Amino acid sequence: MKPFEKCPVCNGELVNKKVEKLLRNGGNTVSMIVTAEVCLHCGERLYAEDVVESFEEIRSKLRKNEFTHFKILGQSFTVEANWPNKAIQPTS
Ligand SMILES: [Zn+2]
Repeated sequence: MKPFEKCPVCNGELVNKKVEKLLRNGGNTVSMIVTAEVCLHCGERLYAEDVVESFEEIRSKLRKNEFTHFKILGQSFTVEANWPNKAIQPTS
């Protein structure tokens, strides 16, 4: 059961692929490998409805600093506000 037959953006061919997805909220990040339909032409990623619901659940957990079912994987950082190159700014 595919959610889409053709890319809704460019009508290109879709292939089932595992892609890396990052979700961020409240300064927290979760990375994961997700099965998605990926457009061979424009690279658009399409996720099944239940996957999109899981993304919302994960974002909501991040916002509430609720980390059950997550595994620690390294640390994440942002730059300090006084980073010498002003083209680079902290994310929060
Ligand atoms: Zn496309």
